Amino acid sequence: MKDSDVIVIGGGHAGSEASLATARMGFSTLLLTTNPDTIGLMSCNPAIGGLAKGQLVKEIDALGGEMAKATDSSATQYRLLNRSKGPAVRSSRAQVDREKYKTYMRSILEKEPHLTIKKAEVTEIIIERNCVRGVKTSAGETFYSDTVIIAPGTFLNGLIHIGLKHFPAGRIGEPPSVKLPEQLKTLGFTMGRFKTGTCPRLDGKTIEFSSLAVQEGNKDMRPFSLETERIIEEQLPCYITHTNPRTHQIIRSDLDKSPLYTGIIKGRGVRYCPSIEDKVIKFPDRDSHQIFLEPEGYNTCEFYPNGISTSLPLKTQIKMVHSIKGLEKAKIVKLGYGIEHDYVDPRELLSTLESKRIKNLYFAGQINGTTGYEEAAAQGLMAGINAALKLREEQPLILKRWEAYIGVLIDDLVTKGTDEPYRMFTSRAEHRLILREDNAEFRLRKIGHGIGLVSEERYRTTVEKEKKIIEALHELKRRKIIPSTEVNRKIKEWNTAPIKNSTSLYELLKRPQLTMKRLTCLDEWVNELPSAIAEQVEITVKYSGYIKRENKEIQRINRMEKKRIPPTIDYWSIPGLSHEVREKLSRVKPLTMAQASRISGVTPASISMLAIYLKGKRQNQQ
Ligand code: FAD
Repeated sequence: MKDSDVIVIGGGHAGSEASLATARMGFSTLLLTTNPDTIGLMSCNPAIGGLAKGQLVKEIDALGGEMAKATDSSATQYRLLNRSKGPAVRSSRAQVDREKYKTYMRSILEKEPHLTIKKAEVTEIIIERNCVRGVKTSAGETFYSDTVIIAPGTFLNGLIHIGLKHFPAGRIGEPPSVKLPEQLKTLGFTMGRFKTGTCPRLDGKTIEFSSLAVQEGNKDMRPFSLETERIIEEQLPCYITHTNPRTHQIIRSDLDKSPLYTGIIKGRGVRYCPSIEDKVIKFPDRDSHQIFLEPEGYNTCEFYPNGISTSLPLKTQIKMVHSIKGLEKAKIVKLGYGIEHDYVDPRELLSTLESKRIKNLYFAGQINGTTGYEEAAAQGLMAGINAALKLREEQPLILKRWEAYIGVLIDDLVTKGTDEPYRMFTSRAEHRLILREDNAEFRLRKIGHGIGLVSEERYRTTVEKEKKIIEALHELKRRKIIPSTEVNRKIKEWNTAPIKNSTSLYELLKRPQLTMKRLTCLDEWVNELPSAIAEQVEITVKYSGYIKRENKEIQRINRMEKKRIPPTIDYWSIPGLSHEVREKLSRVKPLTMAQASRISGVTPASISMLAIYLKGKRQNQQ
């Protein structure tokens, strides 16, 4: 007798999306989490999105996930990063009210009809004949289910460091999960240890804001979610300050009390999001590092000094903070700390995030070696979707690298693994001009609708928009500008050649100097287009050459992606492959030739040998 179709372990960013996905796809879901009051809690900075992460959030939204809506419900400030750069690398970021975000997420989970939340620490996964059957908890309860999704974040054997003191914890004030990682090790999972850290939190009443630069949000932002009509809350400012030579001196002179620099912390940290002690030591030529003072919310005066994550001792944290402009009298409300935790080598997983070792056991979030709320939520959503599709006995959803950043994230993890906490960057995506945050809707809404996470009505809105874009592109080609003194005076003002013959708006827009906004001066009709449609039209016209080239390359890769490798293949019996290549292929078990070619160390020569072997095998079978 089973208690639910699916059990999700952990109510963090991965667990929330996973449990919503399975429940919304019609399966009774039991979310077991050590503390329901921390569902959706942000362990580190109060912000969602950012470079490449904004794209992830919009993709989650397009597929029918919740993170974007939670962000809009609690945002205190929106910004568009890389605004002056090309559309491929522009990303939205929002500061959020930590409490509001958490409250929103919990209430959405609570309202979900097929979802039950229960406070429990899972200590064991019940497995029979290599297949999941349920879980046991520390209170001695047993819950049976067909599928288990495990999303325990930084809690597996978590160890917090503050100076030379360390103590077991999953996050500050919360106990670690110890039995679960023990069982995973016993089951043979390859595991490792990573490290991350957070900043001290400051009392805003004690910060001298008048001496600091203010950073306001952008006023013309679209909400994160397609379903949020508009941004309503008043936006809060952030403030900017900097470390200085004195701050760096304080840090250097206390390195003998740093768990990082005395070798106590063994886990590998995030290279691109280092602690302040790391920055000071690794960049000795710099005598200043920027700090953003981010408000924790509307109803608190706590501030998050983004940029000074540290695991130095209390006294050093106080001295360090007081050495910084505007923070001379700042009081620390909560200490900064570092945390080491276990993770599972993601090459243990299939592209569906299901374990290769144990059937119907899925892994999502920080347990797979990633860092970041957005990376966790994306994996949670995909693990949930694939668990539900398997229960429905339908084909899995494996997003390709050219369909979504989510596809890049999961493919990187399961194909290459990671030897440091993995975070998303635009540079990880080969096809980033196609994977823009502004077109996530057109890439993924249809898929979200197909699996049942996006309603017919909402999907229709996207279809309508697509229709309008096509119509607008036609109209742009049809509408001609007749040369006249007045027209050419305007055109020359924009530093581009005057027109001699009647020229379509489409042709004019191809010129680098001309934008949709400028075209409104030549033809009022352009003004009638909604801004989201005008944006798509402009990008399509301006980048049509690049987009065509990318699409051609995608077609080439897609042909390789279609060449499937039988899962039962014995790489050790293929002649000519090196020991290293055989080992790597056997470990990853790539599903397609394209995936095999992306495994680091698998050379083009070994791919050719594999292709010849598979061709021979197919011919023998015929
Ligand atoms: P979490 O959000 O950690 O949630 C895990 C959930 O699982 C919790 O609800 C917990 O109660 C529950 N749980 C754990 N074990 C069990 C069990 N056995 N049974 C039942 N429930 C269980 N990310 C960044 O991008 N940048 C940063 O600078 C950054 N710094 C960080 C600093 C710190 C100190 C920490 C702790 C995290 C930091 N992160 C940072 C990481 C970010 O918080 C995580 O990547 C993200 O929260 C992971 O989401 P998750 O859903 O995988 O896990």
